Amino acid sequence: MNIPASEALSRLKAGNLEYIHEHYSKEVHLKDIAELDDKGQHPFATVITCSDSRVPPELIFNCGLGEIFTIRTAGNVVSDFDIGSVEYAAEHLETKLIVVMGHLHCGAVGSALSEHSGVGGHLGNIMHEIEPAVDMARHEGHSDAEVAALAENHNIEHTVNVLKTNDVIKELKDVVILGAKYNTHTGKVDFFE
Ligand SMILES: [Zn+2]
Repeated sequence: MNIPASEALSRLKAGNLEYIHEHYSKEVHLKDIAELDDKGQHPFATVITCSDSRVPPELIFNCGLGEIFTIRTAGNVVSDFDIGSVEYAAEHLETKLIVVMGHLHCGAVGSALSEHSGVGGHLGNIMHEIEPAVDMARHEGHSDAEVAALAENHNIEHTVNVLKTNDVIKELKDVVILGAKYNTHTGKVDFFE
């Protein structure tokens, strides 16, 4: 049995405060690696976030090895394998908190806002997934910056909704799925509570 979602959320919030105040406390020692291997992993939260190299959840939440189960894709969108990974964490590792963390100035969302029609391959699939969020934002936003920020928010909410309607996760008790947004300028994470 893992820790409750509310406690997991408090830990993430406290870790992010430590991060923005430059109070890093996590170091990696070889004995910890081996010890963790013996004990097995018991991450207290699952975080789905963007692959953007400025957005590593372990650093942002001041967490060490074995603490966060992480899934990262460009634009924090999820498809079969990613959703399967979330199911694994929720069902087998019993993480009660699932956070979908997008971020300010997301390049994937930016691409979907600009010239995505020419994007092919699998990247085109990512653009396609972000498109509804972009369409909504275009109707609501006034400036380019506002449209981009709204598109990022809607895209986070979209992934949250995909996970909330997942048959496996729906059946699990006391699981909380929450959106969040990382400010790439200040380092602060705002949770969509
Ligand atoms: Zn991004």
